Amino acid sequence: MDQITRRDLLKGTVIAGAAALVTGCAGTAESIQIDKKGAAAKPVLTIAHITDVHVKPEGKAPAGMRACLRDIAALPNQPDVIFNGGDAIMDALATSKERAETQWKLWWSILKEECKLPIEHCIGNHDIWGWQRTKAGTNGTEPLYGKKMALEQLQLAMPYRSFDRAGWHFIVLDSVQERGDEGYKPVLDEEQFAWLTADLKATPATTPVCILSHVPILSVTPFYFTDEVVKDYQFKLIGALMHQDTKRIKDLLAGFPNVKLCLSGHDHLLDRVDYNGITYLCNGAVSGNWWGGRFKDCDPGYGIIRLYADGRFEHDYKTYDWDPKA
Ligand SMILES: [Zn+2]
Repeated sequence: MDQITRRDLLKGTVIAGAAALVTGCAGTAESIQIDKKGAAAKPVLTIAHITDVHVKPEGKAPAGMRACLRDIAALPNQPDVIFNGGDAIMDALATSKERAETQWKLWWSILKEECKLPIEHCIGNHDIWGWQRTKAGTNGTEPLYGKKMALEQLQLAMPYRSFDRAGWHFIVLDSVQERGDEGYKPVLDEEQFAWLTADLKATPATTPVCILSHVPILSVTPFYFTDEVVKDYQFKLIGALMHQDTKRIKDLLAGFPNVKLCLSGHDHLLDRVDYNGITYLCNGAVSGNWWGGRFKDCDPGYGIIRLYADGRFEHDYKTYDWDPKA
C-alpha cells in the first residue's frame, strides 16, 4: 500500500480542489500553488530525497531498496532528480575493505537496474571506510581509507560542493569528521565552514538556497531516538544525532535570508523544524529500522520536495510497498 503519512504545506498557500477549480489546470492538487495574481504556479524542481538506504547483501535489504526505487519510478509526477542523503550502504566504518566494496557493488547494481533519474550524492558516516580502526583492521594509511572510498564510489571530487539548478542554489555538506577510534563526530571542519561562508556570500540574495546534509543541522528527533533522555534533571542526548556545531551554522545561516530549506537524514526519524526563517526536514529512512520495519515513530520511506521559483516549497513523506515480514 502506498500511503502519504505526512504532508507539510507552507502557510499562506492555497492548495487542493479550490486551486484546480479556479485554474482548470490539470495535475495533482499537491503540485498546485497559487501565486499572488491567482494563477497556478508549477514547481520548478521536484526532488525525491532518499536517505539511509543502508543496503547490504543479507536479508530484505536488496528487495527493499528495489521496492523504493520502483515506487519512485511509478510516481505519476516524476521527480527531476534524486538526492541520496547518505548511508547508502549498511556500514563501512567498522568493516574490511572487501566487505565495504561488496556493499558498494550491490548499491550500484540495484541503482543501475532500477533508477533512470539523475542522482546527487551526499556522504553519510556509514559510507566512510575504516575509521573504527580496531574493528575494521585499518591503520589509516590504506589508499582508500576514510572518505576516499566513498568519493571514488560516488564519483565526487570533494566531500562537499554546491551547484545551481532550476533557479535554486544547492549546497551539499560533509557532516562527519574523524574522531579517533570512536569513528566520527558530526561537525563541519574549519576549511568547510570557511568554504560554506564564501559560497553563501557568492550566491545572489535573490536565489533561494537548499542545503543537503547527512546529519541534521537542527532536529527534534534526538529526543525520541532512545527511550531515556533525562538523567539527573538534565536532557542527555546522543551527541552523534545532530550537528554539534548547530549554533555556529544557525548563526551563519541567519545572515542569509535566501536559505530556505535544510534536508537531512541519519536519525531514521521524520520531523520538520521551522526556526529563524529556515525549515529543517529530517526525512526518515528508506531502510526504516535498518531493514527491520518501522523505527519508533517512522515507517520506511522517502521525501518528496517540490521547489518553487520564489523560494517556497512543499514536502511529503511517502512510504512504499515493502513488508519486512513478507
Ligand atoms: Zn543511517
